[in-house]
Amino acid sequence: MVHAEQVHKSFGSIEVLKGIDLQVRAGEVCCLLGPSGSGKSTFLRCINHLEKINAGWIRVDGELIGYRERGGKLHEMREKEVAAQRRSIGMVFQRFNLFPHMTALDNVAEAPTLVRREKKSAARERAAALLERVGLGDKLGNYPGQLSGGQQQRVAIARALAMKPKLMLFDEPTSALDPELVGEVLDVMKDLARDGMTMIVVTHEIGFAREVGDSLVFMDGGVVVEQGNPREVIADPKHDRTKAFLAKVL
Ligand code: ATP
Ligand code: MG
Repeated sequence: MVHAEQVHKSFGSIEVLKGIDLQVRAGEVCCLLGPSGSGKSTFLRCINHLEKINAGWIRVDGELIGYRERGGKLHEMREKEVAAQRRSIGMVFQRFNLFPHMTALDNVAEAPTLVRREKKSAARERAAALLERVGLGDKLGNYPGQLSGGQQQRVAIARALAMKPKLMLFDEPTSALDPELVGEVLDVMKDLARDGMTMIVVTHEIGFAREVGDSLVFMDGGVVVEQGNPREVIADPKHDRTKAFLAKVL
């Protein structure tokens, strides 16, 4: 589902990604770990082309991200095509970024009506079902300010799902939450994983990686230092940098 080869990304003269290779099969959950500044968020942003890569390539579901192949050459996509591609990739950030002046229901139904041009009634019906699915069936009319952080993050997940993505990217979705609210968000993500959603999750929640992850990728300094089965990597990291990092977060 996701295949990245030798992805390089620089900001000015600073090379942040120095040749990232990654493969995630359909239905798998890949957990991405690494110290602050190692390039995790940048890499996620490259996957849905919020950042343009300098070298290498990324395919999602076989489709090259940001480029078209024509006559053996790569041509940059127009912004409209990129936007279409991005729609099939859901993204959930550390900060929930909900529209504050809209109810939970409207936050979820907004993009399907505006972007996918679904009928308002159908979009709202589906939004209600999605909010039900993330355990917020009784909060449809609440504004973000009337929801806890964990509830807001679950609305954000429902909002991403409303676009019927084939891939979900999560960037530290629980790290801005009070500890007692982390579990309810992880439970929704576990449920999604069980349902067969392909997911790349940047997280320091080792328990989640161990329980739900099909693969664990440890990044440091813009490269993949170590990857493998989460249970094996966590129990027996091979690389010193992985050991040092896990010792800190465990
Ligand atoms: P964290 O765990 O703190 O979220 P991260 O692994 O997600 O870290 P990134 O946010 O990808 O790290 O940042 C990697 C490096 O790239 C950092 O040194 C950061 O300062 C730099 N960087 C990221 N975005 C930009 C940008 N738009 N312009 C310049 N430098 C950037
Ligand atoms: Mg980050």
